[in-house]
Amino acid sequence: MIDQRIEEAAHAYEPEILRFAQEIIRTRSYSTQEENLVKLIRHKMEELNFDEVTVDGIGSVIGRVGHGPRKLLYDAHIDTVWAEDRANWRVDPFAAVVEGNLLYGRGSSDEKAAMAAMLYGAAIAKRLGLLDGFSLYISGTVLEETCDGLSVVHMIEHDGFRPDYVVICEPTSLDVYRGQRGRVELKITTTGTSAHAAHPDKGDNAIYKMAQTVLNIKKLTATFREDPFLGKGTAVVSIIESNAPSINSVPYESTIYIDRRITVGETKETVLEEFRNAVNEPEHTTVELTQYEDTSWTGLHVQQEKYFPTWVLDENHPLVRAGVEAAAEVRGETPAVSRWIFSTNGVAFMGRFQIPSIGFGPGDEWLAHAANEYVRISDLYQAARFYALLPSKLAKEV
Ligand SMILES: [Zn+2]
Repeated sequence: MIDQRIEEAAHAYEPEILRFAQEIIRTRSYSTQEENLVKLIRHKMEELNFDEVTVDGIGSVIGRVGHGPRKLLYDAHIDTVWAEDRANWRVDPFAAVVEGNLLYGRGSSDEKAAMAAMLYGAAIAKRLGLLDGFSLYISGTVLEETCDGLSVVHMIEHDGFRPDYVVICEPTSLDVYRGQRGRVELKITTTGTSAHAAHPDKGDNAIYKMAQTVLNIKKLTATFREDPFLGKGTAVVSIIESNAPSINSVPYESTIYIDRRITVGETKETVLEEFRNAVNEPEHTTVELTQYEDTSWTGLHVQQEKYFPTWVLDENHPLVRAGVEAAAEVRGETPAVSRWIFSTNGVAFMGRFQIPSIGFGPGDEWLAHAANEYVRISDLYQAARFYALLPSKLAKEV
């Protein structure tokens, strides 16, 4: 049975939580264009009596309640993927339509509704004095959809804010997640020699060379490692390009791009090595990581290689135990302890900086990026209770 005071406070806030989730969904916030949503969330944090609200250099909004020595962070990215494909949607993706228990809209599951639940959860914890030695931070991070973890690297390395524990509020169907596969983006380029297409024997066709490399990669995927918890890595050749002086010429260059999902024990170094060993004619071929480069809404130029490390938190870690206890109390049943198939900011929090992290959020992973994306409104309300309850559960474990 959940703490009666949390139950009463959360119940009273439910109409507001829904209203604010709708307001967030109605505020378009594509990556690099999050400014309006940052302002909306900042204003709400102030209205809910947060003790401190800041916007960092890359443009993420961070609020705090409480003054305890230990820092617990709830993170939700506030950017979304594109949703102007109106014909694929039964409802307007930015109207925040409610039908029964479902709230529709781009970002409803991934993960705007979570932000509303987090804000009210933190406000409840503060009001009821349930922070138990924690400073509880809420971050609305930017640029996750284009480069997961980038805003976290900025938060920790440039702005010097390093939490002790993190809850990533991507959709988990109200289960507790403790890991995900990582990711590497690769670019392979092979060079040949151009010649007139009427005299192909005078040239060296880069596409033919690359074709053999592509077939080698398909075979290579069968050899990838398998992890009992996270599963197996994958590789997809997603784009193929070539350059030739004209359509009537032998191409002198061909490039492919690869999305390589990595599991436990695989790193960018192991991936680079396996691909360098798999390419056809290695003396004429380069294998490299791709780079992300963009400008945040604050005007900051950002750049990072596209390596997103795998991470898993031990199932007996106090944060996992606290998460399971809080989720069980809120749901009235034991939650599953599982992992994401997709990628999250956890690649930086835990993958890069080894800060203990778990996932807990309303909505389902499979709805992320989908047309007619929705979130169960009941998930939203239960998540708010979870976010209010977790600090006191964690305080008992650590
Ligand atoms: Zn997401």
